[in-house]
Amino acid sequence: MRVVETINDIRAIVKSQRAAGKSIGFVPTMGCLHEGHISLARESIRENDFTIMSIFVNPTQFGVNEDFDKYPRRLEEDSRMAEEVGVDVIFAPSVKEMYPGSYKTFVNVEGITEVLCGKSRPGHFRGVTTVVSKLFNIVQPDKAYFGQKDAQQVLVIKKMVKDLDMNIDIITCPIVREHDGLAMSSRNVYLSGEERKAALVLSKSLFEAEKMILNGERDCKKILNYINEKIAAENRAQVDYISMVDVESLEEISEIQRNVLIALAVKIGGTRLIDNVIVEV
Ligand code: AMP
Repeated sequence: MRVVETINDIRAIVKSQRAAGKSIGFVPTMGCLHEGHISLARESIRENDFTIMSIFVNPTQFGVNEDFDKYPRRLEEDSRMAEEVGVDVIFAPSVKEMYPGSYKTFVNVEGITEVLCGKSRPGHFRGVTTVVSKLFNIVQPDKAYFGQKDAQQVLVIKKMVKDLDMNIDIITCPIVREHDGLAMSSRNVYLSGEERKAALVLSKSLFEAEKMILNGERDCKKILNYINEKIAAENRAQVDYISMVDVESLEEISEIQRNVLIALAVKIGGTRLIDNVIVEV
């Protein structure tokens, strides 16, 4: 497996694979790989002849007071994991390679980026759609793989691809969880032992809310109150948002009549974690 750092190098590799008639799968990540990322890579390897993974901590998607500087970076270990699963190439550009000093162009999806995580992280999705557009232009994959863990991100990317006529299939892969239910995340490395235990309140409350719905509850207010109380009882937790929204439009709903996305963002100590479930009714 090769690790390349320049746009020229990855383009040359893509060109030769294309010339050999190979299909290309792409897995964009910020590294510090875990089983969640690896599940996307596995799916790409299964469905394509050649799999490229990018590892790039993208500065434009971090707010000024967020964790860009301390975000975990460990390219060597990531490379080992990616090679083991069968990734063909890692593209790990520098910030300068992606955003030279003269950089001026941004891609923005309106509407669905202004709710949920977009509300507390203004500009975040603009950074995501910008870097993903650039990566798509560089790699020109047939298919690209994203995790349901970032439910809003997948919707935003799908919207961008549709609106800008990008000829790429966006594949959504299920959330990979630790044995006790905590959604895997590179940011879990920030959690102390006690915080790690407290963080379980996210998945636990989502699963219980799901159970309420499957048992017939249709009033979103009751369900949201339940989740809120459960999280409020955990003194290390501070709610950013808890929302029940339409799975496509992300509009808030008050009474469940069709499939619903329950999404939340909660700070545990200093670490902001997200999780979600889609409940099919
Ligand atoms: P990140 O490195 O956090 O930007 O994530 C890269 C990709 O991996 C995104 O498409 C995420 O949605 C996906 N991902 C992250 N965590 C998980 C998880 N626990 N399960 C499934 N996919 C995940």
